[in-house]
Amino acid sequence: MAQTISYITGSQLLSLQRRPNIAIIDVRDDERSYDGHIAGSFHYASGTFTDKITNLIQDVKGKDTLVFHCALSQVRGPTCAWRLANYLEEMKEDAGIKNILVLERGFNGWEASGRPVCRCTDIPCKGASASSSIRIHSR
Ligand SMILES: [Zn+2]
Repeated sequence: MAQTISYITGSQLLSLQRRPNIAIIDVRDDERSYDGHIAGSFHYASGTFTDKITNLIQDVKGKDTLVFHCALSQVRGPTCAWRLANYLEEMKEDAGIKNILVLERGFNGWEASGRPVCRCTDIPCKGASASSSIRIHSR
């Protein structure tokens, strides 16, 4: 199964954000701690992304669409998205991830467009709707 990665705009993400099948993966490094983040997003810093890729796959169990972003989604976001896509392809096991997307213009574009920014210090961020998300356990 060849994975492809496409882009999603901020307004598309805003309308999909509350769906239980979506996971937002923030791969910024230190910026997350002082710039805020998109509510409910997971944090997998690009610097240690490869080491934690199996944790990530555990975290997103039951979600079929992952949206990656960094500050601008020009380098780290797409790079990590491809790393995951390649990993999944090599793993030869279906993790249930069907779509890997990158948020156009990244977190900075999201914030500049006046979209909601969460400034909690929870790890992971519980987001506005995370408590109602559906958990699916396979096996
Ligand atoms: Zn938060």
